[in-house]
Amino acid sequence: MAAPHTSKAEPNFDGMAPPRRVHVLLPLPLASAYDYLVPQGELIEAGDFVAVPLGRRTVVGVVWGEGSADPDGGVGHNRLRPIAHRIPAPGMEEVTRRFVEWLADYTCASPGAVLRMTMSVPAALEPPRPRLAYALAGPPPSRMTGARQRVLDVLADGISLPGPAIAELAAVSSGVVRGLVRQGTLQEVQLPAEMLVPEPDWQKTGETLSAEQQTAAAALRAKIAAGGYSTTLLDGVTGAGKTEVYLEAIAATLAQGRQVLVLVPEIGLTAQWLERFEKRFGAAPLSWHSDLGTARRRLTWRAVAQGRARVVVGARSALFLPYTDLGLIVVDEEHDGAFKQEEGVIYHARDMAVLRASLGEIPIVLASATPSLESQVNVELGRYDSLHLPNRIGGAELPQIEAVDMRGEAPSGPQWLSPVLVTAMTETLAAGEQVLLFLNRRGYAPLTLCRTCGHRLQCPNCTAWLVEHRFHGRLQCHHCGFTLRRPEACPECAAEDSLVACGPGVERLGEEVDQLFPDVPCMLIASDTLRGPEAAAAAIKQIAEGEVSLIIGTQIIAKGHHFPMLTLVGVIDADLGLQGGDLRAAERTYQMLHQVAGRSGRAKHKGRALLQTYMPEHPVMQALISGERDKFMAQEREARRAQGLPPFGRLVALIVSGRDEAQVTQTARDLGRAAPRQRDVEILGPAPAPLSLLRGRFRQRLLLKTQRGVNASALAKAWVGQVDYPQQVRVAIDVDPYSFL
Ligand code: ADP
Ligand code: ZN
Repeated sequence: MAAPHTSKAEPNFDGMAPPRRVHVLLPLPLASAYDYLVPQGELIEAGDFVAVPLGRRTVVGVVWGEGSADPDGGVGHNRLRPIAHRIPAPGMEEVTRRFVEWLADYTCASPGAVLRMTMSVPAALEPPRPRLAYALAGPPPSRMTGARQRVLDVLADGISLPGPAIAELAAVSSGVVRGLVRQGTLQEVQLPAEMLVPEPDWQKTGETLSAEQQTAAAALRAKIAAGGYSTTLLDGVTGAGKTEVYLEAIAATLAQGRQVLVLVPEIGLTAQWLERFEKRFGAAPLSWHSDLGTARRRLTWRAVAQGRARVVVGARSALFLPYTDLGLIVVDEEHDGAFKQEEGVIYHARDMAVLRASLGEIPIVLASATPSLESQVNVELGRYDSLHLPNRIGGAELPQIEAVDMRGEAPSGPQWLSPVLVTAMTETLAAGEQVLLFLNRRGYAPLTLCRTCGHRLQCPNCTAWLVEHRFHGRLQCHHCGFTLRRPEACPECAAEDSLVACGPGVERLGEEVDQLFPDVPCMLIASDTLRGPEAAAAAIKQIAEGEVSLIIGTQIIAKGHHFPMLTLVGVIDADLGLQGGDLRAAERTYQMLHQVAGRSGRAKHKGRALLQTYMPEHPVMQALISGERDKFMAQEREARRAQGLPPFGRLVALIVSGRDEAQVTQTARDLGRAAPRQRDVEILGPAPAPLSLLRGRFRQRLLLKTQRGVNASALAKAWVGQVDYPQQVRVAIDVDPYSFL
């Protein structure tokens, strides 16, 4: 439209429509969105991905909404820079944008930092690149070698694979692959640019559900049919068939043509789950986790954004995928601490999943045999609904749990298995059944000290002892990864052969077991003994198929698995988690021990669990032995209520850290002085954190405690905003903290 305008050197919009300006949120930790001009004739909508200039760079961001129309408000049009171009990719859904805002608000993070989590695969926004692959075509090579034969074997079934994948699977160099291409044995083929996602078949039928399962499944189906937001706690004992129930809810959602997200605490351990899903629906879901290769990440992200991925199972970051029509979220093992992200944007994936469900107006199911107190109280308050499965499937009984009082039963010397446990192990193994020994300590020994001078080997970067890993001959810090070859002499007093290992780790327990049961096939499982999800899957399969009789493991083996031949669980140190001043120590220990005990007796044979403890009268041990979960949780609830602790009160932690101790102390003091002074707010600290040195950074903590219903996030943000501190100091805000280290 030609509009009359005055001719001046400066742009002047008098009398004509001013150019449109929009807010663009950039995936950077900035305080807010920036305004940009929309170039004439560009069709730009909220949610579009756009490339914009920032300083000398070009950055891809998301159009967040209309900018101010008033040319005098904020930055004048003439100083605004235009959007460079729109990215030809599906835009970000409104619900995702609102989720970013809410999450940023709740966690006191900048919206840009949250946006970055939703844009974790920038390459996925680019048009798909053709993917080259090779397949067997021509005659066999004139000269056959072992390496060449392996390549032919890999491609024998008529499949085609990209060159690097062939080289990896056949364990050959890329030169071998190229050689076969030159000879004409392999031929180039074009793979589809997008991932082919097999469609789960919701019409397939699953197991015949028990009456209890049917009731629960029907309740979930009704919620899905009704639509709208609801949170349901699926509370059922270990082996009750909860998974089978929520698979029904997934089927109902797929029947509506909508997407499903299943959040699990640790994706590396889901091999059995994936197998079950595939059996149930005839196609695997898409997995999402940090170990995915870059190509797979890009393809998965695109498949979700295009709505072709129907079911995603993933760790907490799967919450930030670009679903087009998410219809159901399931959080399995909802009580698990692994859902809390402790770095960067600090958030609890279970709680944020509930937020996502409410923004998207969809149902969410939280499943657990040991629901968190938070979720149980939400049920009592009527915020969440609940469904119960009180019995194990197929009439299997819950394991019998007994305490072994180590005050009278402890073995002599540096040994960790009580005679009672050894007898039970002998009986179980003789019956051809499996034994799991649980000790939540990686490595050989948690502490090495010098017999001569008492020196303890400590990490130079952290307030932590170095853990001996005898298998690798090294001492290692479990916080920062610092390692040291195990010294011959004490680094402090130089005494030779004076260093001794104190306390047990799984490796040391393995040694003891080897001596007692030299002929029994045994497997040691800890996060550092398994290389990646495939190794984990193979190990779990070996156990499930009975290839080993004795399993020694840390918490990674305690969760969710179904081992039909396992009938005895021995907990080496049931008291381990009760140390320290964490408000959830008892609850978490109960959950962990209940889960690990729940691995036993899940099929035909009755299971048993022995808890080695120095405190058999402790409420946690008593609750486990008597099976009175609800009574224990009621006691926990009353204790928390009396102290105004979560979920009855709110906590926000501030963690001040930096390399300069004086700066950290000063900042913590300044924060202490600027703390909000209100009747309903209590401030604890500043005080040095229990981990007062972590990865070379000094740390101080403050804790804000307030009543439920107070906007603790806003209070904390305003509080920190009042204090100026050096750039080198970091102040992290942890809303609803789960770690107090
Ligand atoms: P949970 O998730 O409550 O621990 P699962 O869903 O893993 O329990 O079920 C335990 C075992 O029982 C699994 O091996 C599962 O395949 C099997 N199962 C569950 N429901 C049924 C059913 N209705 N009929 C037969 N087997 C079932
Ligand atoms: Zn360290």
